[in-house]
Amino acid sequence: MGMIRLKNVSKFYYSKGIIASGITRINLDLDVGEFVVITGESGSGKSTLLNVISGLDTYEEGEMYIEGKETSHYVATDFEGYRQKYISSIFQSFNLVSSYTVYQNVALAMQIDGRSSAEIKEKVPAIIEKVGLTAYKNRKVSRLSGGQKQRVAIARALAKETKILVADEPTGNLDSASAAGIVDLLTGIAKDKLVIVVTHNYDQFSDHATRVIKMHDGKIVEDTGVKKAGDKISQEEKAAEEERADAALQRDPKEDTQGRRNTISYGTQLRLGIRNTFNLPAKFLLLLLVFLFVVSAVSSQYVSVKQQQDTVSEVGFNTYFSHYDPKRIVVEKQDRSPFTRADYEALENAPHVEKLIREDMIYDSQVYIENDQFSFYGYPLNISSLEDEITFGGLPQADDEVVLSGYDDGWTFGEEPEKLVGNTYTIYGDDGTERKVKVAGIVFKEYDEDDYYGEGEVYFSDAMVVEIRKSMYASRATTTMHINGSDIQLMPGAGGLMVNDKVPEGYVLISTSWDPMFKKGYAAGNDVNIHVKTIYYEADLPLTIMGTYGEKTFKDKTGLDNLAEHEGEVFINPQDYRRLYERGSYQASVFIDDTREMEGMVDMLERGGYHVLVLKDHIFNFMDGELISIISVPLAVIVCLAVFFIAYFVIRLILKSRGVYFATVRMLGMGRKPARRIMRVELVLVCLIAFAVFLLFIYLNYLGVIYREQLMNCILYLTMRDYILLAAILLVMAVLIAGRFMRSIFKSSAMGAYREEA
Ligand code: ADP
Ligand code: MG
Repeated sequence: MGMIRLKNVSKFYYSKGIIASGITRINLDLDVGEFVVITGESGSGKSTLLNVISGLDTYEEGEMYIEGKETSHYVATDFEGYRQKYISSIFQSFNLVSSYTVYQNVALAMQIDGRSSAEIKEKVPAIIEKVGLTAYKNRKVSRLSGGQKQRVAIARALAKETKILVADEPTGNLDSASAAGIVDLLTGIAKDKLVIVVTHNYDQFSDHATRVIKMHDGKIVEDTGVKKAGDKISQEEKAAEEERADAALQRDPKEDTQGRRNTISYGTQLRLGIRNTFNLPAKFLLLLLVFLFVVSAVSSQYVSVKQQQDTVSEVGFNTYFSHYDPKRIVVEKQDRSPFTRADYEALENAPHVEKLIREDMIYDSQVYIENDQFSFYGYPLNISSLEDEITFGGLPQADDEVVLSGYDDGWTFGEEPEKLVGNTYTIYGDDGTERKVKVAGIVFKEYDEDDYYGEGEVYFSDAMVVEIRKSMYASRATTTMHINGSDIQLMPGAGGLMVNDKVPEGYVLISTSWDPMFKKGYAAGNDVNIHVKTIYYEADLPLTIMGTYGEKTFKDKTGLDNLAEHEGEVFINPQDYRRLYERGSYQASVFIDDTREMEGMVDMLERGGYHVLVLKDHIFNFMDGELISIISVPLAVIVCLAVFFIAYFVIRLILKSRGVYFATVRMLGMGRKPARRIMRVELVLVCLIAFAVFLLFIYLNYLGVIYREQLMNCILYLTMRDYILLAAILLVMAVLIAGRFMRSIFKSSAMGAYREEA
């Protein structure tokens, strides 16, 4: 039985709709010990025949037997195994990994074969010695001459220890002296192997060939045994060789139907991946740049969405800045804690600060005060910021006294403004609370051209400003009451959460309609928890149910008259209400004296621990905040997808050089899975390094060594979770690209991959 047998084998090439015949109905028997030389003119089918024999290309008709086994049913992965076990290839163009050293190239063949590192360390130097390259062992292949490269290719073939060695024009690129050396080496090898050489220069091999096959137009036209096969080795030697081969097969229990021996180990895959990452510095830097581009583009989209959502969220930076002013900067603390007296002092004394509004939350809102005769809308301000002279009346003497300021236009204050002074009015809070205030004074404002809004102001005492802010928080917070296992949403104000002086601190008064929900039929004595969530804080208030009110007990328990108006309300003590909603001011506005100082001011504030919103930059004052967050997310997603596409194509271009590498390892018999893992290691490594560089830049920004607004925004807006998400997005991208890339390498035959990538 022969080593290789071809029966009526044909191969066609399909390209651009044209079918070309590579070889037609080839019949051939080849055996170990032969030194076969295939000749013929260019285009006669020599390479095609060789590639079919070596499993680098598929054939369409006939049958090829390898050691008696049929191969026509083989798929691509079967041929990887076949090549790994039987074939060593030598090419005219060497097909070495030029960024690897001589040693690494030779070792690679054994690593792909799954050989132990001890075996590799022992055998590789001996093989390199055999081809005469010991002095160049650690030199990169790209720095060798053509003759030396072909010696490396032969060493690599020897390292594979296969029974068949094929060589396609091995001397084609070499001068005659180098060529003679290669011929000698091949002749030496041919003693115990099947060596098949394709050449159009038969003379170089005529002294050594045992058989010459001449091809013409895809067919064998001459097949001569120059020396009879077996001449060179005796029958005993041949029997001994077969025994060795059998032993080699038995040595490996993992052998499967595809004839694959051991596969490359995970450790080696990792090591090759790491080596590939760094051994071409230019390629590494380019990949790094692409990943940096992706991480910075994605992070900036991410930040801008977060920034906008922050800006337009209901509590926090207001959607509508009625007091639009190019000199106004809204600030909150980066740790989102309330302002302290020291914070206010530092801000007030900072250079270029003209004015500080401490209660920014209420600054853009309006308050409404009225009684039977008169009503007035105005922006709430602290009395300390009143600059104008009082026209009627005087400054407030008590916490509940206010000063009204507006134009002397005859209708703002009516016909007789002086008569408003001293009267009591009701002020309605956002949370449905009502408070009484007394007008202490009236101010006629001077006409101001820059006054866009034209409305008046109400100047309050510190205590009243706090009350107004509290109402605002209450109305904008999400308030839930956890009672008897369920969560009830409570709106502060009529029908919801109310304050009542008759309820002691730590207690809550609820409607008797709750009673049946409790086991014993009455709610009193049970515990509830009230939870408040705003964008600045969350708070819990555990309370005990003091009792329930019904029709008869309502007036007695609450001091209120009409139960129908208060149906379902939950009453707590004013001190407890304050605990929920009065937790300090989280937002302030700084006015600078010169808009040219804006950039420096923003920089200073950000370094000082503030999160800054410059009104000048936000022209969407009157645009609906919801709308912005609705379009900003899809927009960011589209931009990110575009970035991924660009990155993908650039990476594919950069990886072009890797294509030859993977065609080479595939030629040596590596399968798709290990190849993909090696590629993944490389891309994931670059990706992690890019992410680390990104973090480093952020850190340098944090330290103040560099300053980039985009990086500053990352510090302000990204949390740990966001960073992890960003890294995950990058890693997924790296893994997907590695997979896609390998699919394209492995989609055609091994030779096809070379043709495509070379
Ligand atoms: P040789 O090695 O003897 O020069 P080849 O085996 O390369 O010949 O080519 C044999 C025939 O197959 C030629 O007619 C050639 O044009 C054709 N052929 C070879 N490779 C391809 C290919 N990739 N696509 C289409 N036709 C091909
Ligand atoms: Mg050829």
